[in-house]
Amino acid sequence: MSHDVAAALDRVRERIALACQRSGREPGSVQLVAVSKGHSEELIRVAYDHGMRLFGENYAQELAQKAAALSDLPDIRWRFIGHLQRNKIKLVERARATVDTVDSSKLAEAISARAATRGATVEVLVQVNIGEERQKSGCKPDEVPALIDAARALPNVSLRGLMTVAPHFEDPEATRPIFADLRRLAEAHGLSELSMGMTHDLEQAVEEGSTMLRIGTAIFGPRPARQP
Ligand SMILES: *Cc1c(COP(=O)(O)O)cnc(C)c1O
Repeated sequence: MSHDVAAALDRVRERIALACQRSGREPGSVQLVAVSKGHSEELIRVAYDHGMRLFGENYAQELAQKAAALSDLPDIRWRFIGHLQRNKIKLVERARATVDTVDSSKLAEAISARAATRGATVEVLVQVNIGEERQKSGCKPDEVPALIDAARALPNVSLRGLMTVAPHFEDPEATRPIFADLRRLAEAHGLSELSMGMTHDLEQAVEEGSTMLRIGTAIFGPRPARQP
């Protein structure tokens, strides 16, 4: 039997509702981004038919292809959550996607310049390597203030908040302090959007103030192996 995306989506929404209840938050204060990387357009349509509008993709080419193939869905919206090379900005731009992974002022400048050519403003988040893992992308916490200043000075990007990919701990409770650090960092800079929490640590992220969950596996099932 194929994976039942609609039922899985119901279970994820239930997990979010319960975590909101436990932490005294309004369920509407947490947005759900369905991370569809590696999954087919058909599965995205199933999720869309079940009320999903916000989708996250990690690869610029894949995002551009899917956005084009699904352009008949008028209110679908895309968030780019992978590492973005400057020469791929146009692909992300074509999908009208936000960029949730801005990790340098050079990247922010290039996004702004590109958006200016069509008179648009692109919503962005600054990605922080808050766990300070050597291999992960995102800027270091001590680089955040300068990057925020740089992004705010640009005419065609709108900085909304911070994003992090937390290290994977066996026990999701171990991620809590990292989420709390990101929240404090955002608060210190007057930023309201916090993109944190994945399948494994959804509850902890909501309880620590996430405003945007990026959930893949719990909605779409395991990802097929990536084509070379
Ligand atoms: C793949 C991915 C996700 C989703 O992860 P799951 O564990 O499948 O929920 C979230 N954020 C980023 C940046 C990802 O690359």
